[in-house]
Amino acid sequence: MAALALQNVYKKYGSVEAITDVSLEVREGEFVVFVGPSGCGKSTLLRMIAGLEDISSGRLMIGAEERTHTDPAKRQIAMVFQSYALYPHLTVRGNLGFALRMAGESKPAIAAKVDPIATMLQLSGLMDRRPSQLSGGQRQRVAIGRALVRSPKVFLFDEPLSNLDAELRVQMRVELAQLHKKIGVTTIYVTHDQVEAMTLADRIVVVRNGRIEQIGAPIELYDNPSNLFVAGFIGSPRINEITATVTGVDESDLLLELPGGARISYPRLELTAVIGDRLTLGVRPEHFIRITGDPQNGVRVNVDYWEHLGGVSYAYGALANGQRIIFEERLFRSPVGDRSLSLEIDISKAFLFDATGRRRR
Ligand code: ADP
Repeated sequence: MAALALQNVYKKYGSVEAITDVSLEVREGEFVVFVGPSGCGKSTLLRMIAGLEDISSGRLMIGAEERTHTDPAKRQIAMVFQSYALYPHLTVRGNLGFALRMAGESKPAIAAKVDPIATMLQLSGLMDRRPSQLSGGQRQRVAIGRALVRSPKVFLFDEPLSNLDAELRVQMRVELAQLHKKIGVTTIYVTHDQVEAMTLADRIVVVRNGRIEQIGAPIELYDNPSNLFVAGFIGSPRINEITATVTGVDESDLLLELPGGARISYPRLELTAVIGDRLTLGVRPEHFIRITGDPQNGVRVNVDYWEHLGGVSYAYGALANGQRIIFEERLFRSPVGDRSLSLEIDISKAFLFDATGRRRR
């Protein structure tokens, strides 16, 4: 049985359909990340699960129980917001125990629940401070601890790290991952940051325009995107999009012309294409092979900028038709970097998309 399931869920705001026919099963203990661009509907989905928004149609199941219209307080769900929403006049101890005190639990009972959680979150030495006396990361941990003391069945996070500076964000990401390993509570986490999604998720749900585009393990989505949107959203730097014009079709292969004139063969598979069709070849920055001389199965790139990070360098440039290209090279040691590159494409790793963005395989 799934820990949580959405079944054909819709959300309408007046005539605007924010969520369209979303179905999803989250397994017990799983860490699922909803990712997508701003306005795609991720927060709406999370808020419907929490009970902060009505579900227009469809069903929400938590364990075996239908919870579509259940009062938020009775869903056994805890949510951590971007803005933490700690009580400023209460100490860390007061914030952590607040929900239990409201529920009428005794002081010793509250301490028995709060203390181990404070220890786990390394807050024991800060119990008498107020939120204003804490760093951003510590406040974040108090917000998580406050949710944890309620022993939720499902933990929801809405962009919890986006207010933190870059270094702290990386640190908190690691802490969240370790915490999840320790407590194992089923978690749904919303972010627009694909790196957070890749590093935290057991499975990623890619959302666009209120619909699920694809669900899968991070590496599955990276290696096997089902459309150009997912290929473009997952992976940093972004996948390269190269226009490929069909110049020939035989039984097994398509002959494709690339910008600059090189012709490549690509297995035809189930694709029906006619001469003159313009398709998109998706090539990740690490899937080019630099050669000397003219590329036979690739492209020439005019480089305008090199970025040297030490272990890895990125060349930013353009093809003959103006399309932008990013090329990754490991352990590149030329101090300036070349201005013109001849790049063969590793065709076995390249994806072919039709004019609608659907992957052809
Ligand atoms: P995300 O979290 O992915 O940025 P949201 O879930 O906040 O996106 O919003 C999804 C869509 O629903 C957006 O187009 C947004 O404008 C719309 N929306 C969200 N809340 C409301 C509301 N209360 N009334 C009308 N439209 C809303």
